[in-house]
Amino acid sequence: MKINKVAVIGAGTMGAGIAGQVANAGVEVWLLDLPSDDNPNALAERGLERLRDPDAPGLMSKEAESFIHVGNTRDNFDELASCDWIAEAVVERLDIKKDLYRRLDATCHKEAIITSNTSTIPIKLLVEDMPPAFRKRFAITHFFNPVRFMRLLELVRGEDTDPAVMDILDRFCEERLGKGVVPCLDTPGFLGNRVGVFAIQCALHAAFELGLTPLEADALFGRPIGIPKTGVFGLYDLIGIDLMSDVVQSLVNILPENDAFHAEAAKIPLMTRMIENGQTGNKQGKGFYRDGENGREVLNLDNETYQSAPRLNLPLAEKAEKDGVKHLLDDDGLYGRFAWRVLSRTLSYAASLIPEVGDNPVGIDDAMKLGYNWVQGPMELIDEIGVDYFVSRLQQDGMPVPEFLAEARGSSFYRVHGDQLQSRIAGNHWRGIKHAEGIIRFSEKRLTVKPENSCEVASWYDLDGIAMVEFHSKANALDADSMAMLDDAISAVEQKGMRGLIVHNDAQHFSCGVNLQCVRDFFRNDDLDGLDQFLANFQNTVHRMANVDFPVVAAPVGLSIGGGFEVVLHAKQVICHANSVTGLVESLVGVVPGGGGCKETLYRWIELLQCGDEDIAKACWKAFMNLGYGKTATSPIIAKSQAMLRANDRFVINRDRILSEAIAAIENPSEQKAFDRPDLTLPGKPVFEEMCQWLADSRDKGIFMPHDVNVGSEMARIVTGGDVEPGTVWSEQDFYDAERRSFLSLVQTDATRERINTMLDNGSPVRN
Ligand code: NAD
Repeated sequence: MKINKVAVIGAGTMGAGIAGQVANAGVEVWLLDLPSDDNPNALAERGLERLRDPDAPGLMSKEAESFIHVGNTRDNFDELASCDWIAEAVVERLDIKKDLYRRLDATCHKEAIITSNTSTIPIKLLVEDMPPAFRKRFAITHFFNPVRFMRLLELVRGEDTDPAVMDILDRFCEERLGKGVVPCLDTPGFLGNRVGVFAIQCALHAAFELGLTPLEADALFGRPIGIPKTGVFGLYDLIGIDLMSDVVQSLVNILPENDAFHAEAAKIPLMTRMIENGQTGNKQGKGFYRDGENGREVLNLDNETYQSAPRLNLPLAEKAEKDGVKHLLDDDGLYGRFAWRVLSRTLSYAASLIPEVGDNPVGIDDAMKLGYNWVQGPMELIDEIGVDYFVSRLQQDGMPVPEFLAEARGSSFYRVHGDQLQSRIAGNHWRGIKHAEGIIRFSEKRLTVKPENSCEVASWYDLDGIAMVEFHSKANALDADSMAMLDDAISAVEQKGMRGLIVHNDAQHFSCGVNLQCVRDFFRNDDLDGLDQFLANFQNTVHRMANVDFPVVAAPVGLSIGGGFEVVLHAKQVICHANSVTGLVESLVGVVPGGGGCKETLYRWIELLQCGDEDIAKACWKAFMNLGYGKTATSPIIAKSQAMLRANDRFVINRDRILSEAIAAIENPSEQKAFDRPDLTLPGKPVFEEMCQWLADSRDKGIFMPHDVNVGSEMARIVTGGDVEPGTVWSEQDFYDAERRSFLSLVQTDATRERINTMLDNGSPVRN
């Protein structure tokens, strides 16, 4: 059976999210909730409304929305007769779910698949009253919030579920919904929450016990360990302190008495008071953090008042982030003790779950990477730390060593055997890690191939005759060495007659742009010539990449902004992830895109609007607006409408398939689009002056800050030609030169330097 039509019941946080992702896949979906009095569809409509939230858009585009029908379980239940998959996402109440299944059994067609999104109720209980035919087509599909953005889908089979049903769900959720499907046994909390909530609780209790501030705990239990920078207190605020308390309580209720989770689950009196006071986190505007009048504030855990929260620079944390978590564990001060307290318990808890939750570590590691955005899973972290070091420290502390961990002594949980990546399995055996055809994670592939050339910030690999460049600095910020590596790979493709070039990485984000620290070094050293040379090299490299006579594909995931996006803009084809965010955001830090970004924005608007010499001003205005506002597109569909991507660029809904799609694209060069960048006849001074006037008016209305006007004027100068006479002709190189001139002139202003300094020192730019 093929899933052509879907229904989601319960239009709350999860149901609306699931329906949104089904619609993003271009599949028709009914979203039903209980009928309301005045407007029977009010609840489902509210769910749909939440998907439109511009800060976390659950839908990729307006088109996607047209695939959703909203309704209610009284008036529209019959629609379910024609649906192939019904995903139940109603409140976590067994009686309500059971009532619903009885109605579904009477209404749905006989092959329709029914799943529950339950987090805590075992399948056995859910279907205990249902006939065998129903149980055969029932499973748990446990999505994570927000559904569009969280990659993990835990797929849980019941004792009676037909394997064919599991296959259909697996394929649909992986290929159409883009999820990383992790098969789970029907054990409490499955994998992600079982380990993830344990880790959060452990960090929370350790911080209270050791007297760390939320800022300190979040600086440690975050990037240095390869965990999102929200840390623990920030994550509590994000999820909601009340909701997290409920999640903890539900795990307490379902986990056996001897489970180590209970030792980490005790209620913290301060947090009970916070819930009573409405300090439940971001949704209430205050939790452990809040936005104060003068910036971010943090709760002082001793006197329960808010105080300013300056960015915390912990050299130890920075070192661990760069050189590995062991630097933290080796520290014999407070921070090292905190890290050991959290990691010793969390990682050994994860290891202790094998074989209860499965016979190997891959599921747990994947669940933490895909569901909690950890860079490495727990067992991968133990491998990094060293199994023997970890075990001996557990023993020194008198802590138990789980059997699966003890089996790995003198060895590891993962290894490369021949050219195959293998994982340890319980009982001291090894098994190759296999994915469905078309899934290639470069983070795994990298372990089995040697780079042809590599430096601290970038490498390139030979993937069977195709060169692949990987950026791998912090946030994949680009510097001269990153561009030199790209240039080296281009030369190698030419010299060795390789088939093409791919620029890709498997990190959370493709690239946050040029390394601002390099820019600051140039201006602090008064080395403007050096900065000009750096920009010229950047431009020459991307220009070369755009004009070579072999296929070039950029395959970005996550954020590609600033200079990172300028690299993407110069590929002959972009194959990006459906959730890729793109844009030239340089105005925020008081500069213009100086790596061909202004030039490309203008040429692309001309192409999209099909402007000729007579109406080029239309494209200039569009480019000016994109650049000035530092617009970002939250989906490739929006990016196309904003002239950020070209007609031949495309997206892939499952990010694990991007690399194989990019490779296929190299083999099919007809999809590639050359860069035709003819000389342009500029509108010049009159349009430039109009734009400057518009900026000044907007400043007078209080919309823009004074320096926004300066930065905007430089963007206007580049896209119109500035003070030149209308009809002046510029070549592509003239635009590159204009970008560098404007960049250098802005960098010499105090206001731009202030923006760059505050961005680097505080993590956000000033508005000045
Ligand atoms: P929610 O409270 O946001 O939404 C539940 C919705 O179900 C409400 O809109 C409610 O009106 C509706 N509803 C209740 N009874 C109904 C019925 N008989 N028929 C139709 N609709 C009905 O809840 P949620 O957070 O979306 O959770 C839904 C399910 O997903 C639960 O089983 C929960 O355990 C699970 N889950 C939640 C999360 C999360 O982060 N919130 C994550 C994974 C799984």
